Amino acid sequence: MEHKKVEEYPIIWLQCAACTGCSVSILNSESPTIKNMLIDEVLPGKHLNLRFHPTIMAGAGEAVIEEMEKTRQNRNGSYILVVEGAIPMAEGGAYGYIGEKDGEPISMLSSVDFLGKEAMAVIALGTCAAFGGIAAAYGNPGHCTGVAEFFKSRSITTPLINIPGCPPHPDWFVGTIASVLYNGLPRAEDLDEYKRPKAFYGKLIHEICPRRADFEEGKFAKNFNEPGCLYELGCKGPVTYADCPIRLWNGGVNWCVNAGSPCIGCCEPGFPDLVSPLYEKMILEVLPVVGRRSEIE
Ligand code: SF4
Ligand code: SF4
Repeated sequence: MEHKKVEEYPIIWLQCAACTGCSVSILNSESPTIKNMLIDEVLPGKHLNLRFHPTIMAGAGEAVIEEMEKTRQNRNGSYILVVEGAIPMAEGGAYGYIGEKDGEPISMLSSVDFLGKEAMAVIALGTCAAFGGIAAAYGNPGHCTGVAEFFKSRSITTPLINIPGCPPHPDWFVGTIASVLYNGLPRAEDLDEYKRPKAFYGKLIHEICPRRADFEEGKFAKNFNEPGCLYELGCKGPVTYADCPIRLWNGGVNWCVNAGSPCIGCCEPGFPDLVSPLYEKMILEVLPVVGRRSEIE
């Protein structure tokens, strides 16, 4: 019987200024499961080879740093770099390290720099990696920043895909990886102005929310456990692009608004500062529209 050659796609996964929630979310992927993704062929003839992940790899210490380095050297230009968490830029990166080599600490900043330059593509996973997120919230002594801004500051031009969310839905990551393996890197028109795949972030939450009719009819909930639109309770669905209302979370069980909790805008640049206070009514200068605002204006 003829054996088909399986193509290997190495992944180096860095955890920078983050809470590890993005990893936890992806580990809960249901279809495919994380086991299927990492052990089986994620697509026929294509296998993801997770070479470095600080939370789930069995090894530790300099041995894994060497492994990461070997992957970079041997698979130059053909590995995918996943960055979880923001990059602390202050003091030459002294606010965050990923490990040591020859007794010298390796900063998150230098890792994203040297691994990012030579990757086939970089996926900024979660709102901290994409836009700075909670790590870059007001105060920000470590000058945390998202990958796009960091790349811009270093003139790094490696293709970048942002998968924001606090945390991101597992499907958003798995679907993006599958699309890269199947179709190649996304075309410019597949991504929005913030480099988010339109397949997952193409519509406003408000546009596809099952409580939209309540909004139009002025039926607003006054308490979190009441039916009705949650706009008065601080819902940021009118300014947030994501498919949560139709994709649902936890294996299709529920999503924020349906559980009585307003959307807090977790996929947007500027989260959390620009959408705070999270549970206070947002005053919009322009009323919500149907469709992407940038395409309408
Ligand atoms: S404001 Fe929030 S709850 Fe109300 S319709 Fe829009 S997305 Fe749904
Ligand atoms: S509904 Fe809003 S806050 Fe909830 S996960 Fe989706 S984008 Fe984030």
